[in-house]
Amino acid sequence: MQTIGRFAPSPSGRMHLGNVLCALLAFLSARRQNGQFLLRIEDLDAMRCPRSFADLIMDDLRWLGLDWDGEVPYQSERSDIYAQYEAVLREKGLLYPCFCSRAALHAASAPHLSDGRVLYVGTCRNLTAEQVAEKRKMRAPATRVRVPDEVVRFTDAVWGDYEENLAEECGDFIIRRSDGVFAYQLAVVVDDALTGVNEVVRGADLISSTPRQIWLYRLFGFEPPHFAHIPLLCDHDGRRLSKRDEDLDLGLLRERFTPAQVTGALAYAAGLIDRPEPVAARELVSAFDWGKIPRHDLFLPDIFR
Ligand code: GLU
Repeated sequence: MQTIGRFAPSPSGRMHLGNVLCALLAFLSARRQNGQFLLRIEDLDAMRCPRSFADLIMDDLRWLGLDWDGEVPYQSERSDIYAQYEAVLREKGLLYPCFCSRAALHAASAPHLSDGRVLYVGTCRNLTAEQVAEKRKMRAPATRVRVPDEVVRFTDAVWGDYEENLAEECGDFIIRRSDGVFAYQLAVVVDDALTGVNEVVRGADLISSTPRQIWLYRLFGFEPPHFAHIPLLCDHDGRRLSKRDEDLDLGLLRERFTPAQVTGALAYAAGLIDRPEPVAARELVSAFDWGKIPRHDLFLPDIFR
């Protein structure tokens, strides 16, 4: 079966080096297997994701030499499709409206998981029809999906075996926000499945999303893809890079470096080459191997400091 990989950025800002590393590794893995490499714009929250950022991401990818195959879907245009899969969950009796405010969800008494997420305690799980009608007068609900007391396991290309009990470590999760916007967890599964993606490469910060996504794949009757959760970049104080680190976004980096310098520095940090020398992305394809990618956070290459 042909490998179909993808890069699925959320264009809420310019790409930073962590996003570039993700795009690079997703591209290299797909191309190493003579596979396709797709691009999808995850602009579910259209207010926070203007088209101009999506255009810049595509321009930056071209600048880096990371070419993709086919049309580029925009999640903001696919609500009708997500609604069809929401309906599947509804027919299975798995959905319920949740009226909890952000403050209530994050109250001090809420159980916090080791990765900082908050376990949903099920406040709205068993509301009666009367209670729902009453609460609807006060606020629009989000939509949650009921998860089973079930362990989901998968083997990650970087992290090896990973498992999570959905009820204990995830809890019922939101598939549609109270403003009607579909949640990432639903959209990402539907889009990857419908575009035939069978290899998902993304940051390690998303590994805890994967068990609930695999559960959704199976509910919808799709085969889950292979996953590779890549290490995150951190500065020399051990702080993980984020979109706030504007000095490391590609707008400024493109003024200071060549594509080969950026690629070489990241490839070195990720263990793909022995020295931090400039190299074009396509030159890294033939020697790419997931076994070289470490599990620990990666230090920001010196040239960017
Ligand atoms: N859109 C997500 C991000 O930019 C990535 C989601 C994914 O790769 O599954 O962080």
